[in-house]
Amino acid sequence: MESEKKYFVLAYYHFTSIENPKEEVKKHQKFFENRDVTCRIYLSKEGINGQMSAFFEDANDYMNWLRSDPRFADVVFKIHFYHEQVFPRISVKVREQLVALDAEVDMAYTGEHVSPQRWKEMLEERDQNTLLLDVRNDYEWEVGHFEGSTLPELNTFREFPSYAKNLKNTHDPKKTKVMMCCTGGIRCELYSALLKKEGFENVFQLDGGIINYGLQEGTKHWKGKLFVFDDRLTVPISEKEPAELISHCIHCEVETDLYYNCANMDCNELFLSCPSCAREKQGCCSADCMEAPRVRKFQEATRPKPFRRLSECKENS
Ligand SMILES: [Zn+2]
Ligand SMILES: [Zn+2]
Repeated sequence: MESEKKYFVLAYYHFTSIENPKEEVKKHQKFFENRDVTCRIYLSKEGINGQMSAFFEDANDYMNWLRSDPRFADVVFKIHFYHEQVFPRISVKVREQLVALDAEVDMAYTGEHVSPQRWKEMLEERDQNTLLLDVRNDYEWEVGHFEGSTLPELNTFREFPSYAKNLKNTHDPKKTKVMMCCTGGIRCELYSALLKKEGFENVFQLDGGIINYGLQEGTKHWKGKLFVFDDRLTVPISEKEPAELISHCIHCEVETDLYYNCANMDCNELFLSCPSCAREKQGCCSADCMEAPRVRKFQEATRPKPFRRLSECKENS
């Protein structure tokens, strides 16, 4: 570990029956008291979905503490290293669903988990009947993805059930081999089950998601960087190999992986820009936004962070 990277960034999820999620939230909050931790953790009756950054000692304590509970004994933590906290604060909340979806999912019926190593082999053996499906958003896909992967065309992932239904019109559910991936694996658990429900027989999901692939296998067959929902915004999937840039500035087309939230408060759109265009456009995504009535003052940063509303910063602090 590089000496300046004393923070662990943890990503984990686990399906397990939790009778009283509120109680777990309280236990978590109590555990985090006086610790160097920031996080975004959701608990529901069906399990836990967490992302956290913590000083390495606190991160180790947390992993041991969580796994000492038999319900969470099998939690798998994916770990990155970083030089500072990557979340704005401690946030532990109860949610109705761990992944927002307007459909019932039978978790006994999910796609087959494949290890990163097997995934790599499957990418190499891939034929025309294989559909490599990346179940992330377009702005995530744009900065990095597996070669040859496609996105389901959706406005929101709540539409995935109808996408799964329609996919049968273009892909034979008996012959098509679906290889599905997402950032950390949790989205695949649900979306793969929806495809199986529609009759797709060969559905495989990348175990631990793209994060795990990068940690175990490096960058083979992967292009670009990985979008993450924290202050880092984009990260290389492997520390050992350099990441190439595949995305471009929306203003001048030059290669960049820097995301900005549009400085027009009423737009706030996430867009890719090179630093010089960001400066020139004062952090705005378009000429129209520059003229808008509520534009934040542009703040130059080598790696811009996601914009936080003031109210969000005050909450819990
Ligand atoms: Zn530019
Ligand atoms: Zn804008």
